[in-house]
Amino acid sequence: MPDQTCACPHCRCVLGIDAVMKDGKGYCCQGCAEHHAHGEPCAAVNGCECAKAAP
Ligand SMILES: [Zn+2]
Ligand SMILES: [Zn+2]
Ligand SMILES: [Zn+2]
Repeated sequence: MPDQTCACPHCRCVLGIDAVMKDGKGYCCQGCAEHHAHGEPCAAVNGCECAKAAP
């Protein structure tokens, strides 16, 4: 089983029912799955700032 936390480097979100699988890794949301390439915010409601941490 893969780790059940988001594969986004700066994201600590736990994968939920809306988790996105990409390249064999799990991401908590589409934004993380796209590595925030287009500035999508993290879908987490806990104030996760992984999108801001992305270069
Ligand atoms: Zn996040
Ligand atoms: Zn995430
Ligand atoms: Zn992220």
